[in-house]
Parts: sequence; C-alpha cells; structure tokens
Amino acid sequence: MASHYLDHAATTPMFASAREAYADELARVGNPSALHRSGRLARATVEQGREAVAAAFDAHPTEVVFTSGGTESDNLAIKGLWWSRTAEEPRRTRVVTSAIEHHAALEAVRWLERTYGAVAVVLPVDRDGALDLEALRAEIDAHGDEIAVVTLMWANNEVGSIQPIVEAVALASARGIPVHSDVVQAAGHVPFSFRDSGLAAASISAHKFGGPVGIGALLLRRDVVLTPLAHGGGQERKIRSGTLNAAGIRACGVAATEAVSSLPEEATRLAGLRGRLLAGVRERVPDAVLSGPEPGPWRLPGNAHFVFPGCAAEALMYVLDSQGVEASNGSACTAGVAQASHVLLAMGRTEDEASSTMRFSLGHTTTDADIDALLDHLPEAVAKASRVAGGASPARAAEAR
Ligand code: PLP
Repeated sequence: MASHYLDHAATTPMFASAREAYADELARVGNPSALHRSGRLARATVEQGREAVAAAFDAHPTEVVFTSGGTESDNLAIKGLWWSRTAEEPRRTRVVTSAIEHHAALEAVRWLERTYGAVAVVLPVDRDGALDLEALRAEIDAHGDEIAVVTLMWANNEVGSIQPIVEAVALASARGIPVHSDVVQAAGHVPFSFRDSGLAAASISAHKFGGPVGIGALLLRRDVVLTPLAHGGGQERKIRSGTLNAAGIRACGVAATEAVSSLPEEATRLAGLRGRLLAGVRERVPDAVLSGPEPGPWRLPGNAHFVFPGCAAEALMYVLDSQGVEASNGSACTAGVAQASHVLLAMGRTEDEASSTMRFSLGHTTTDADIDALLDHLPEAVAKASRVAGGASPARAAEAR
C-alpha cells in the first residue's frame, strides 16, 4: 500500500542533500574540540554549519548555539533567561507566555513555577489562535518591572497560526524585557530574520526543515546573559556544554540553506496544495470546521487543521492510517495520550471539539497524489470514526479499523 505522509509538522523527511552530508560526515572521526588534524577538520565542519544556519536565519554566526533540538532550546532559553534575570534583579519573578505554546515551553514555565516560585502569566488567544496583544500590553504596563522573560511561539504547531511577535517584542523591549520565541514550526517555512525580529533568543530544530532529528539551535543575541542548563566542557560559549554533533550540524546547515533558498516557491506550492485539500474537505465533509486563521499571511502554508464534530480523533487517525494516509490527531508530541488539545481549548472550543481534531501538515515531498488519497478516504473514515465517538481509547479506535 502506498503511504501518503501528511504529518510534516511532526517531522519532515530529510532533504537528499542533507542526508548525503550527514552520511558523509558520519564516516569521519574527530571531536571538534580536539587539537589534532581530525579534530580541526571536525571543527571546520561545525563552523561551516554554523555559518550556514546563521546565513539562513539572518543571525551572526556567534549567535548560533547548537543544541539537541527544539525542546532543549526552549528549556535553555526559558530557564536560562529566568535564572539570569532573577539573579540580577530578584523582584523579576514573572515569566509571561501564551496558552497555545508547545509543551516544551509550557512545561519549562510550569517547572519554574513549581521549583523556583516563578509567577507564570499565561496570556489568552483569540478564536483563531492569535495572541491577545492587549493582554500582553496590560501585563507589561502593570508588571513590567517584575517580568524576567517573555516566551511566545512564532507559529503554532497545531493550527498553524502565525503570531504577532514583532509587535510583542516592541512592547517588551520598551521595558527592557527579553523575548524568546519558539520558531521551530516557522523556520524554513516562512521568512524569518533573527536580526530584524528584535528577539533575545529563538529556538529552531533541524528535523522540522529537512535536517536530522537530534540537532537544533538556540539563536542568542550576543548581549544577552543566560545561565546554562548543563555544565561541562564549556562548548558553545559555555552556554551548552557537550561534544559537538559535527554530522548533525553539517546536515542542519545544508538543510537550512536548502529550505530557505526554496522557501518562496515552496510556500506557494504548498499553499496551492493546501487550498485543494481545504476545498476538498469542505466539499466531502461539510461538517468539518477549519481551525485557525483562513489561509493567508497569518497561517503556515503547509498547515490544515479541522474539527470533525462528533468524530473520535484517534479513531479517525487509525482509520486513515489503515488506508495509508498518515496524519496527526493533535500534536505528535502528545499523541498516544488521549486528551483534548490545550490549543483548541485555549481557542474557546469545547472539550468535545478539542478531542475531535485532525491536523494535515504538508511538506517538501507532498504531491497531488497525497491530497487525492486523503480526499478519497476521508468521508468513509469520518463516518467510521463517528460511530465510535464518545470514547477515543485505542481499543475503540481499533474497532473502527
Ligand atoms: N516547539 C514546537 C513548536 C514544536 O512543534 C516541537 C516539535 O513538535 C518542538 C518545539 C520540539 O522540538 P524537538 O522535537 O526538536 O525537541
């Protein structure tokens, strides 16, 4: 059976160029911190990768701190900035975020709250999943001197909404508050310039833009002081100790270059395919409700997300999977745990609606055939999954297959 992969937001296939670079580098030896020839060659590879990542996202090479990916970068930025700011000024105990952040950010904030007595301020979003800027303004007006850090994602991983980060940075910067953004879903998919953003820090992850899993970076402005999570050999400006992943870094650089150089055409191509998907779903399953903003500048070009009222999302996922169509009910990082999406709940949907969602995310290998396969199988799959609605347990999902 042909496989139709529509889960690129969870992880997207590596570009051939990145795969080749990765495999080539895996055949070499050399710790980039070693001073002998192999070490120096590995170091040169790392620095080339750093320059490529910096060029792709308009940062200075010295602003690129390599990590293991998005989760680590988010934790490093949020905890590291909070620690350093409260150490400097103890009254800065607040950490401001939004209700639709990825768990990598939300759980880091919650951990600071539980462990260090941080005051977590979770800002609301509107029905389309866009940050309430007025709530941010009010928070900064009332408590600007008590805020250690603001962390807001650039684009949401479930509903694809792009956030008004530039406006948020303007509000925070006026009070000297550093802003971190989780740019994991946006980097390589919509234009992003670290320099122009005004951000203090930004998280990226290679496996979301055609590089390997297990490598990412925190883009960190040179003037920003941050307490490290891990202590050790002092690599990466003492901010992220640990032997550098030369193969991953090289492949990350190659993928970033390719993603950004093909971005304008690819974004247009994906938006076209997504338009077909959207029209097809609306025609075949008229009950389906698109979540998030209408297609346009405020939505990731490869994202389509629906509520299928009365449908058990997990069952729908399994039925489609049995037909070779792979998509995600909610975000992959929480898949397997049957629970309503916190993003949809924050957007004002009911528990039932938030448990009846499917995300179809398109990427560089997506073709018309993938959209056709989804549209062919969707009506019957929705009908089957509706019959088991009311309990989205794996056992019931299995019944529906
Ligand atoms: N942030 C967002 C918005 C994501 O979508 C993801 C992954 O799904 C992450 C962070 C975590 O990234 P990683 O898988 O590289 O740890």
